[in-house]
Amino acid sequence: MKRAALLRDALVVLGLAACCWFGAAVSAHVRLKNPVNGNYLKWNDPSDVTVVISSSGSSDIVDGSHTPAIQNAIAAWNEVGGTTAHMREVISSAQRNRTDWESNDLHMILFDEDNSSGFFPEGSATVAVTPVWFYSSGRISDADVLFNGRGFEFTTSGEAGKFDVQDVATHELGHLMGLDHSGWAGASMYPYVDQDVTLHRSLSLDEVGGLRHAYPGGPFARITGAVVREQGGSAVAGAHVVVRDSSGRPARSFLTDNSGVFTIYGLDPGDYSLYVDPLDQPVSANNLGGGWTVETDFGSVLNGSVTVSAGETHDVGVLFVPPSTDMALGRNSDDYPLACEIGFTTSVMVRGASLFPGSLLSASDPTLVVGEPTWNGWNVTFQVTVPVGTDPGHVDLEVWNTSGELSILPAAIELVPTAPTVSGVFPAVATTIGGTDIAITGSGFRSGARVVLGDAVYADGESCEVLDEGTIRLTTTPGAEGARDVVVIDPTGVEGRKASGFSYADLPTVQSVFPDAGSSGGGTRVVVTGFHFDPGATVFIDQIQQGDVEWIDATMIEFTTLASRGAGVRALELVQPDGTRAASSFQFTLIGDPMLASCSPEQGSRFGGDLLTIRGERFHPEMQVWFGVDRNTGDGGVQASGVTWISSTTLQVLSPAHAQGYVDVLVVNPENGQADMLISGFRYSSPSTAGGGCMSVSPPVDAGSGPWVSFLLGLGLIALASKATMSGRFRPRNMA
Ligand SMILES: [Zn+2]
Repeated sequence: MKRAALLRDALVVLGLAACCWFGAAVSAHVRLKNPVNGNYLKWNDPSDVTVVISSSGSSDIVDGSHTPAIQNAIAAWNEVGGTTAHMREVISSAQRNRTDWESNDLHMILFDEDNSSGFFPEGSATVAVTPVWFYSSGRISDADVLFNGRGFEFTTSGEAGKFDVQDVATHELGHLMGLDHSGWAGASMYPYVDQDVTLHRSLSLDEVGGLRHAYPGGPFARITGAVVREQGGSAVAGAHVVVRDSSGRPARSFLTDNSGVFTIYGLDPGDYSLYVDPLDQPVSANNLGGGWTVETDFGSVLNGSVTVSAGETHDVGVLFVPPSTDMALGRNSDDYPLACEIGFTTSVMVRGASLFPGSLLSASDPTLVVGEPTWNGWNVTFQVTVPVGTDPGHVDLEVWNTSGELSILPAAIELVPTAPTVSGVFPAVATTIGGTDIAITGSGFRSGARVVLGDAVYADGESCEVLDEGTIRLTTTPGAEGARDVVVIDPTGVEGRKASGFSYADLPTVQSVFPDAGSSGGGTRVVVTGFHFDPGATVFIDQIQQGDVEWIDATMIEFTTLASRGAGVRALELVQPDGTRAASSFQFTLIGDPMLASCSPEQGSRFGGDLLTIRGERFHPEMQVWFGVDRNTGDGGVQASGVTWISSTTLQVLSPAHAQGYVDVLVVNPENGQADMLISGFRYSSPSTAGGGCMSVSPPVDAGSGPWVSFLLGLGLIALASKATMSGRFRPRNMA
């Protein structure tokens, strides 16, 4: 039942450079088909196609940057609108470490360095392959992307002679989603690639149409019709029918079936025109999978405009095509797309046949200025000038000869913005812990840009923000020590790079200052937690060195504040013996610190609800009481809801529910953060085991003398003992 669709493209060797590749089979946006019965290949649940990037990576790429390159390729497909298709990367290391890529439950992207897959024998010209397994219905059961790591080298940094990982991955993921090669020279699904090609990173509208056809996400308009020969009136099978939008840009395409009938899917309402072109060079039937009949014995023809409304299926009737011509534009020995930078003039050569003087050459978008061509029979050279402000995207080339014959090279040109540049990164060194806000400065930053730092990628609007064309902000994720290239990749695929522009280092990092406020008179004992604290580190607040600094370990330092120069938020700096610093802040207040002396009773039910009396000094009327907080940061814990301020020395609270055991009790002034803590100041117990059941009910508020008092004193001793054994050290209470 299950069979492999051998989707390797035909082996193709081009000119001098061994460029080449793939083998997949099918049609324009062309869908992959079951060659036996013509059923299109598709996923049953396109909204959640899982993919796993193998952790083994590529032997050519040492910094793990193959991962963001592939993630960028996944994102290009996921950003297509009007489709239900969505790939989801599974990032668990258990999945990424798997090697059984043939398993149906694993859709893996991997580099085959030793031909263990069998797809890449010695001398193979296949750069990568996406075997797709499917049932006779066309339902895909498995698909995996394999890079030919044995025969070729790959790069994420534009190294000469190596294939761009993101470019190749974008193409292969199209096969994984069920698309065949495209008849558009500039499409991502164009069958050929070369080492200096990167523009397949950005999808053409033909790929958009393919996803919308396979997995429609809305009621789009369609254009249908039939292609028939002028001479003889017979239908043309496999004619390449392309739709252009009102600005002359190619928008969608499809092939006619064996009856000459075509349907163009996934159109937004608007004005279009059509043309028909034989699928000969540079893309031909050899590049397609099974299930298609492709006839090319006819010439190209432009047809009139058509207006389609939302959701409409518009029948344009019969399109007549003229006899074939010797003239042809485009050869697979050219590299496509032809990149033309917006705002500049680019010199271009296109190979072909019968390209003779007197012919006319034009771009389908009339805003492009095509200079006077030089016709050389087997090629034509010319210049293309793209005015400033022209939108990125693909444009067709057309040539008319002196006999009035036409040849079209679909989507041959890709208009791209000037590549971004990265000039600065501030700060250029940040902690390995992550969480550092950095600003990247440069030029050409556009909405939708993606920033790559080694093995991490940041997407505009998700994990970074393009503030303007010269600034991107992001917050670092954790990373291993060392330098990273800073790469900004435009949605069109052009990129800017600052080599080793950013480094991770084991810098001291302050994560928490607790409490982060204290009396301006000083005397507040403060815990600083973070990373990479060295013995001998000192603490300054407002440039005044603080007292009684105690280095606990690389993650914790304590000190006691000295009297400040005034109230307000002040800079706190931790300064290492080697001069490196970590910054935070501390607030001095004009009122004294709270002091927490006791909590009684010192034990209660784990279900909460016990009425407790908290005694101390300088309690603010808004005081909050927390149970079970982290004693070094004051974070976490459970807040007591029923807090009644009796006086500046007494609070009454209802204990919140909490798991069994001793907990620290925190009082904190929410208005400024002044706080004090009673270490192991309360014990939560199970009603069934502690105190014979009576501990689950509230004791008298003021027990006075009697059995309650002696019982509670006993518990207090237990609690004191536990402070020493549980913490190993006892944090001095505020001295103010
Ligand atoms: Zn392919």
